[in-house]
Amino acid sequence: MRILLAGGAGYIGSHTALALLRAGHEVTVIDNFVNSSPEAIRRIENLAGKQVSLIRGDVRKKTDLLPVLKNGGFDGAVHFAGLKSVGESLQKPILYYRNNIDTTLTLLECMEETHLSSIIFSSSATVYGSNNPVPYREDMPRGLCTNPYGTTKSMMEQIFHDAAAANPELSVVLLRYFNPIGADSSGRIGEDPQGIPNNLMPYIAQVAVGRREKLTVFGGDYPTPDGTCQRDYIHVSDLAQGHLKALEYAVSHTGCEIFNLGTGTPYSVLETVRTFEQVSGVKIPYVIGDRREGDLPACWADASKAEKILDWKAERTLEDMCRDAWNWQKNNPMGYETLHKS
Ligand code: NAD
Ligand code: UDP
Repeated sequence: MRILLAGGAGYIGSHTALALLRAGHEVTVIDNFVNSSPEAIRRIENLAGKQVSLIRGDVRKKTDLLPVLKNGGFDGAVHFAGLKSVGESLQKPILYYRNNIDTTLTLLECMEETHLSSIIFSSSATVYGSNNPVPYREDMPRGLCTNPYGTTKSMMEQIFHDAAAANPELSVVLLRYFNPIGADSSGRIGEDPQGIPNNLMPYIAQVAVGRREKLTVFGGDYPTPDGTCQRDYIHVSDLAQGHLKALEYAVSHTGCEIFNLGTGTPYSVLETVRTFEQVSGVKIPYVIGDRREGDLPACWADASKAEKILDWKAERTLEDMCRDAWNWQKNNPMGYETLHKS
């Protein structure tokens, strides 16, 4: 297949690009590098021994995107291009609505004009909101989100639903990711956050490599077995394989289908810290701090729909995730070294 990855230079996009190349597909990436580095693409090409067609462009701009679709002859597209920081979205809601909604609308308009009909969208478990019981199933209603980032995901899902309802040729797969962590086992590509990491695993990895002094565990008094929050961590390489399966599904179906991509097994913050310590042999100093506003005590997937319909199941363990995250971090202490770091 020939696949367009919008935002394909980022963390999940780069791992998906690598998985696609390794499976023999052709990959075009359009990215404005607002949160990524062209170095990731260079490394993917190196690892796969194949070329990526790379376009520096803004997915919001039709003048950037339309020529790519007109000339690409694509079988499908994956829409990763979005801003993803929950905290930043509270500070800069307009930026988040503008970027995330506009990329989606422009992509759908350009697809319609060029008769490209299969699209995979990077959604999130955050759309379940706070009132559904765990584990989350795809047929549960979307909930109210506590931040603009989550609201953009919920709004974009609705846009895709409406677009698919109006166009019988369109095939949309909404993938609700749980907590992607880890890195390709080569240690050559991985998660490279700008500034202080918001997410748990990059923070732990930066403590391990000496860039941060200690981890603050956000809350130790939740109604969970050890008092810390539980999440469904999923290896980014398993997630990447899920996109391959979703693309195969999308090109042979129409309509709008939702799949959770998670393992179905929750781990607490402290279990994750301990597992990282075990596989890396590095002690992670931590303190228990206040709860972070908006965090749910527990979030995990019912992952059975993807297994049944896509024939996809996460294979890698929490040990694999921690080992690969550490392998990436220790080989690249400052990430790709082309982004602003502190
Ligand atoms: P990322 O920031 O590493 O990747 C996003 C990519 O999109 C970056 O390369 C960025 O430069 C690019 N981009 C953003 N706006 C753009 C624009 N207007 N034009 C062109 N490129 C643009 O993030 P990621 O972790 O790889 O996430 C990919 C997608 O998955 C995002 O939509 C994110 O919201 C979603 N998601 C991520 C997680 C997670 O924990 N990483 C969880 C759930 C959902
Ligand atoms: N977390 C933490 N300290 C940090 C970052 C995260 O204790 O520095 C906790 C957070 O409260 C949550 C879990 O780790 O329970 C996963 O958080 P992350 O931001 O990675 O993902 P989220 O589930 O919030 O999307």
